[in-house]
Amino acid sequence: MQFKYIGVCVIGGLIDTVFEEVDFNKAKDRLLEAYKNSGFDPHCDDARIFLNGEEVYSYEEMATCGNCGEDYPESDINMIDYEIDLCGACEKEYKNK
Ligand SMILES: [Zn+2]
Repeated sequence: MQFKYIGVCVIGGLIDTVFEEVDFNKAKDRLLEAYKNSGFDPHCDDARIFLNGEEVYSYEEMATCGNCGEDYPESDINMIDYEIDLCGACEKEYKNK
């Protein structure tokens, strides 16, 4: 049997979005989309992905890339190695400068 990734987004203590994805990266994208679509105030206060009942990915805080200004989960932003916070795409660009 094949397990599916279950994405859950919670706003104000209520489950706002639930979805199923077979592909983990798609699940991550959908979680980010759900987060962004939840509006500015309040943002989704809890966003997690489960596989077979186990939490495999989660974020509670978003960070803003200092270069492109897009919001990403903190885990996807490099806040250590450069003077500004950089998302994955901008980090590649930055390295090549
Ligand atoms: Zn960026």
